[in-house]
Amino acid sequence: MKNTLLLMAAAALLSCQNSEAEHIPSQAQPEPPAWSIAIHGGAGHFDTEVLSEEAQSAYRKALAAALQAGAAILEKNGDAVSAVVATIEVLEDDSLFNAGRGAVYTAEGTHELDASIMRGSDRNCGAVTGLTGFRHPISVARKVMEDSEHVFFSGPGAAEFATNQGAQTAAPGWFDTKKAHGRYLRALEKDTTREKFGTVGCVALDRNGHLAAGTSTGGMTYKRHGRIGDSPVIGAGTWADDRTCAISATGWGEYFIRTAVAHDIHGRMLHGGASLQAAADATIHDEMGALGGDGGIVGMDRWGQAVFSMNTPGMFRGAYTQGGRPRVGLFATDDMQP
Ligand code: ASP
Repeated sequence: MKNTLLLMAAAALLSCQNSEAEHIPSQAQPEPPAWSIAIHGGAGHFDTEVLSEEAQSAYRKALAAALQAGAAILEKNGDAVSAVVATIEVLEDDSLFNAGRGAVYTAEGTHELDASIMRGSDRNCGAVTGLTGFRHPISVARKVMEDSEHVFFSGPGAAEFATNQGAQTAAPGWFDTKKAHGRYLRALEKDTTREKFGTVGCVALDRNGHLAAGTSTGGMTYKRHGRIGDSPVIGAGTWADDRTCAISATGWGEYFIRTAVAHDIHGRMLHGGASLQAAADATIHDEMGALGGDGGIVGMDRWGQAVFSMNTPGMFRGAYTQGGRPRVGLFATDDMQP
């Protein structure tokens, strides 16, 4: 009798393990690197004709510097969330990108910033939308995740929360950059939101095997007051789950929300056993792209493999894995050499 009970318990345990295993993508995977980090700095319709040699090298330098900031944290055993925040803060301070300082203008000539972050260990997350006057929206999103019982704050409530948390404010004029203002004037002339790219995002795997993802943006040039894109929407612009992947998206936000891009990729891996690359390509091309949207994602699987997928001619991007060197790319055809 005792033996029968023991056998039954062992069988129950095995079936439990099997049903767990069903949720894990089955491809043979390489040994994980100790840490890995990857970024995007926006996707769009740019090519060698639009981007001068000088501009290309400025973007390459900026992307490599951001990767170095995150890598330094991961190398010292820092966690994936800290690496994502540090990396995005560098990009938020660089007016080349549509996030933080370089945020684009709304139709009213103001700035409404969005950011979100998610950690893969427990799927906790934080997001802010329509934030004005703060230097690093990504760190406010982190505070929402870690120091509040909520996950999403908007407008005046987001600003009040940021103030109460002692978040760093931005000096008057901080967001008045030449590049974003030029875009605004062009949009004003045509009364259109067409120029809409340049968001930043980061995904990372730390030495403890935890994933995190974050995204920060000014949104779309000439967006209407109160418009919210995909970047602060968990499941659309950002997702992280240690069982599958971390994702940060960039592109035409309305389409990314309509197809829940970041979560769709995760779902294909979790329930369908797809690889990250196959899942991302299917979501970007067959779902989001098929509706008429454009843009791309940076993703990282739980083995530290960085993946990019886009349906635009360009996406500023980079990846850096322990023991390697930062690799950056600008055009869809770039092979991401160091
Ligand atoms: N996805 C962002 C938005 O729609 C824009 C971008 O990625 O450039 O707000």
